Amino acid sequence: MKIIMLGAPGAGKGTQAKKIAAKYEIPHISTGDIFRANIKNGTELGKKAKTYMDQGLLVPDELVVDLVVDRVNQEDCANGYVLDGFPRTIPQAEALDKALEELGQKMDYAIDVDVPDENIINRMSGRRACVDCGATYHIVYASTKQEGICDNCGGSLILRDDDKPETVQKRLVVYHEQTQPLIDYYMAKGILKTVDGTVDLEDVFKAIVDILGE
Ligand code: ADP
Ligand code: ADP
Ligand code: ZN
Repeated sequence: MKIIMLGAPGAGKGTQAKKIAAKYEIPHISTGDIFRANIKNGTELGKKAKTYMDQGLLVPDELVVDLVVDRVNQEDCANGYVLDGFPRTIPQAEALDKALEELGQKMDYAIDVDVPDENIINRMSGRRACVDCGATYHIVYASTKQEGICDNCGGSLILRDDDKPETVQKRLVVYHEQTQPLIDYYMAKGILKTVDGTVDLEDVFKAIVDILGE
């Protein structure tokens, strides 16, 4: 099963993608996580990506597409995968379709986690990420057992630089301009499914399982 997660920054794509990956035993591929790992490791790609990410802008398509196409061609993706944060532009979607077509494959679902802008700033200012394993939490809606400490690995939790309100505003503008058109793109392909992302995260997941099947 091959799935794309769509939605504004902070809509809950990552949260739901992790749950999908666990239930259906497929890899979770997050381009944001890949870039953050590259930044942490000081790679050339990380250095390039950081200049865009810090401004709330998208990393140029040419730095993203090959990376994802290589990743989905790896062996562990044979039974499918869930893409989180990719594609984010029409050219990225077209490049992915072309790569899949060459393999005689196609995307099964594009799931749009729908959350209005008003809710996003609140979501993002409360989001906390583990510096060691990348797990994400929310200070109110998905809190850890011990404040500031990752349940998963014991690492410390931080507010991502790009989750500060000024940068979130910019990312929302970028989302509406460059990413939202993908909703129509996948609707036209007949694989778009929309779920209400404003409800409790377990209820969002139930709606997704209704779509994907038990
Ligand atoms: P969010 O939580 O907003 O969905 P991500 O972790 O997916 O954020 O992405 C963080 C940043 O990484 C984005 O603001 C963007 O700069 C960059 N990025 C991630 N995926 C892509 C992509 N597919 N194309 C371009 N830039 C990307
Ligand atoms: P995205 O990957 O779309 O940027 P995340 O999955 O990181 O979004 O979620 C953004 C923040 O909102 C995180 O702090 C997360 O714990 C929280 N969150 C996710 N889903 C919900 C939900 N349904 N209700 C409330 N908070 C949520
Ligand atoms: Zn951790």
